[in-house]
Amino acid sequence: MKQHISKKARIPLYLKILAGMIAGIVIGFAALQFDKGAEIVRNWLMPWGKIFIKMLQLIAIPLVFVSLVKGVTGLQDIRKISSLGGKTIGIYIITTVIAVLLGVSAGLLVKPGNIVDKSQVAHLQEQYVETTERNRALAEENQSQGPLAFLNDIVPDNITAAMSDNTKMLHVIFFAVFFGIAALAVPRDKIKGVLEFFDSLDLIILKMVDYIIRFAPYGVAALMAGLVTDFGGNLSVFGSLAVFALTVIACMLILMFIFYPVLIKLFTKMKWTEFLKKVYPMQLFAFTTSSSAATLPVTMDTAENKLGVSNRVSSFVLPVGVTINMDGTSCYQAVSVLFIAQVLGIDLSLLQILVIIAMTVLSSIGTPGIPGGSYVILTMVLTSVGIPAEGLALILGIDRPLDMLRTAVNVTGDVTVAKIIDTAEEKDRKNI
Ligand code: ASP
Repeated sequence: MKQHISKKARIPLYLKILAGMIAGIVIGFAALQFDKGAEIVRNWLMPWGKIFIKMLQLIAIPLVFVSLVKGVTGLQDIRKISSLGGKTIGIYIITTVIAVLLGVSAGLLVKPGNIVDKSQVAHLQEQYVETTERNRALAEENQSQGPLAFLNDIVPDNITAAMSDNTKMLHVIFFAVFFGIAALAVPRDKIKGVLEFFDSLDLIILKMVDYIIRFAPYGVAALMAGLVTDFGGNLSVFGSLAVFALTVIACMLILMFIFYPVLIKLFTKMKWTEFLKKVYPMQLFAFTTSSSAATLPVTMDTAENKLGVSNRVSSFVLPVGVTINMDGTSCYQAVSVLFIAQVLGIDLSLLQILVIIAMTVLSSIGTPGIPGGSYVILTMVLTSVGIPAEGLALILGIDRPLDMLRTAVNVTGDVTVAKIIDTAEEKDRKNI
């Protein structure tokens, strides 16, 4: 029995997901050869795909809430070393915003989803008519509310209502961050129980995410089969998927080989070529594990022993970065949301694009540093702007290689910021 389990465990999940994707495509094409094939796929396979998406949506709010509260309360030293804390968070947010803007620009410029055959888009819109209509209503509502509608959208008036509505992710984020900040202001020994509670809750929720992601190969197979039959076997969707992947890869390479080296050149005394050489093994580790949390020890080692960052800075900046700073993830999420909207023929208003920017910046903070951490969060970002979460099926099959790349970018972003902050701190120390 034991042997059986270990044999099974040897096939990595991402290969199973890829196999699921291929199986789904084959099943979809096979079904199209029969009269009732598409109907059978719709009635007997698609529900499993939908259950998978629902499970992801189910866990999204608890995950975002608990990981944000944990992330913010984890900044316990922020008051002790407040300048370090302020600088760290400020730079993290700025780099994330730039990464998201890169993703949005790439998605809008390349328009990978528009390659899909237009006749198929009309057919798809029919399928998702309910969400598309809600999306239109949302855009109109946004337009009639003036330029600050977006800010107004962040603040909830009722937390239970926000928690019971998957489109209200910004509300949940607002409450979680507010709760975390208030918790920081209360003496720690008075709230020890609550902090421990959140630590334990986080472990349970991450386990739930793990179970759900293990179901991914089957969910992806079902969704893919449904997608192929929905598209009537039209291959243009795969062409657009390839362009989507290339767009993401290009963005990741820009972040890794242009953006960070430029930051290093501008704000530190290190040569950017030396920086790239030294971070390479860490990037490789992140690339193979697809988890920035699992890479943390290597990230710390790289920062301290290879980039010369002081332990004082790295021990604060890097663990915080694992949760808060995910440039690769946020850039990827922005491209994905635009891609899915384009494939489904959903026109996004400028305000919706602004909401996507804000949401991807904030949601990358709530994304766990584990393989596939993005899917869970993406379901929420999609629903929040009125795009059907089932659209995720389009990109799940090829997620793993992109996940590997974005994880490498995430950790490179963390060490870049650590190096910049260390250089600034050193200067301050010398000036004293
Ligand atoms: N795998 C990524 C990480 O650990 C998270 C994601 O799915 O984007 O950094």
